[in-house]
Parts: sequence; structure tokens; C-alpha cells
Amino acid sequence: MSALETASSYADLHWAVIPLCGVKHQCPSPGKVPVNLQTGTHLSGWQGRGIPTPDELETWLNSPLALRANIGVLTGRPSWLIGIDIDGEGGEFLLNKHAQGDLPPTWEYQTGGGRRLIYAYEEGLRSVKISGDGEHEGLEILADGRQMVLPPSVHHTGYTYAWQSGRDPWSGSTPLAPCPAWVRTLAGANAAPKDWVAIARTPVSHGGRHPTIVQLAAHMASKGEAPEYIVAILEAWNEARCKPPKDVTEIRRIVAWALEQHPPESDKPALAEWKTKDQWIRSKAKELGCSLEAARQIVERGMGA
Ligand SMILES: [Zn+2]
Repeated sequence: MSALETASSYADLHWAVIPLCGVKHQCPSPGKVPVNLQTGTHLSGWQGRGIPTPDELETWLNSPLALRANIGVLTGRPSWLIGIDIDGEGGEFLLNKHAQGDLPPTWEYQTGGGRRLIYAYEEGLRSVKISGDGEHEGLEILADGRQMVLPPSVHHTGYTYAWQSGRDPWSGSTPLAPCPAWVRTLAGANAAPKDWVAIARTPVSHGGRHPTIVQLAAHMASKGEAPEYIVAILEAWNEARCKPPKDVTEIRRIVAWALEQHPPESDKPALAEWKTKDQWIRSKAKELGCSLEAARQIVERGMGA
């Protein structure tokens, strides 16, 4: 299977996958740079890309460069994940030094020069490079504004990137782990807090809808909001802000995904900080900029009231 043929399985995970040049590409980093599959030139502005649509995926597979291309994913906010790139012995040394054993099992794959761990993204995490002794050796946290090569891409040495057994996103053996505290310390120090109100109030069109819904769902799930409330409020937000609104089943699918990443704590009442349901609806409607009545109706409907 060519690397690009796996793109749809990654897109199903809501990952902003992107085609990369092949290992024979005449460039300083063959096999690692986002590429235009029609022209074979490197892409600019790829940082703003989202999750490819089924039509885009089909165009990719029918392009002249489809068989040679590698596949990568935008890290950080677009895919709601961060990559920890551990390169060589120097990378492992730095990992041990910073992690001090705090390495919850998570998705992991082998790269040409080492391995890569994937953790759930958190708002504000930035990309950081921690250099080792060797030229390529080191530790890197890949978040906003970066991308990383994915299995089964081919490394210029001929090695094929491969998921560790039981550590892939599909088998269900290991779930995606939350971001460990040491990563937050290294990557979050200068991060500005995210302006959720501004995000929720900005109208979004086609390409922006999916990543924004993913962000909002993950944000609310990480705050421990009740699943039915998250669905209800995102449906209200979808109607108010998405041009055109997305299909409701898609919203539910994204919320289900977000809850898998941030399982609700059963012993913690999700609405503890809200005195009443009405107060909650009022505050959310205000935060998301949709009308109170619309939010209330949808919440009532969602709650089966
Ligand atoms: Zn290239």
C-alpha cells in the first residue's frame, strides 16, 4: 500500500493529513516536505490546511505523484495532537532527563532515526526543539505550525516508518494519552491562553468548520462538561455560526471522538460549577454567541425534556 493510500484512515481520525514529497525528490529534505501532487513543487501555506475532504483524497490518489509521495500530519491545533520526536541516543537521553519516567503509554511509531510519541494536544502548546550532541539528535515537541511524517512513509535511508505493535490509533489496544506535565512545562511556558469566546463567535465556512468543531468539542470535553450538553451546545453553535451548518451526525461523531480523548470522570458531577441547567445554558449561549432561546430549545431537545 502506498503511503498516500492510508490518508483516508487518518482523515477518519480527524487528522489534518498532508501529502509530502517522495524520497527521490531533489530537495534538502526529501520525503519530508508538504508537496503539490500535481506539480511536484513544495507547498507554501500548508500550516493553514485542515482535514482533507473525500474529494480531495481522491484527487490526491489520482495525481501523477501519488505512488511516490509520503504522508504527513499537521501537528497542534489542526489535528488536536502533539508529536514528541525522539531522535537517536541523544534524543532518548533528553527524553529521560525531561520526562523522569512520566511517559504514559500512547500512540507510537518508529521513524528513520528514532521514534515518535503522540499525545493529546492542549490549547496553547507551542513547538519546541531541544538539541542534543549529534547533528540530527535531539528531542522535539511538535505542535502548532509544524507537521510530521507518518507511517507508512519511506525514510531517505529506505526505512519505512511503522507503528509499534498495539500502539496504533485503530487497534484500540492503547488509547491516546493526555499531554504529560513535563511536556506542558517545556512547551507551554510562553503560551498565551486561548480566546475561546473569540473562536466561538467567529463565523466559519467550509474548511474551517471541522477543525473549529473539533477544538470546541475537545475544549468542552476536557473541562468535564456533560456529553449531552456538549452535543446540544455544538448543535446550537453549528446552526448559528457555520456557513452552511454541518450535518448533525458529524457533530455527534466529533463529540464522541472528543469524549474518547477526555473521558468524563464518573465521580465528578459535570455540572457542579453551574447552579442550574438554565444558568449553564445562559452562560454557554453568551459564550458561543448564539441566541438564548435557540440554545435552550436545543438543550431541551438534546436532554429529552
Ligand atoms: Zn522535497
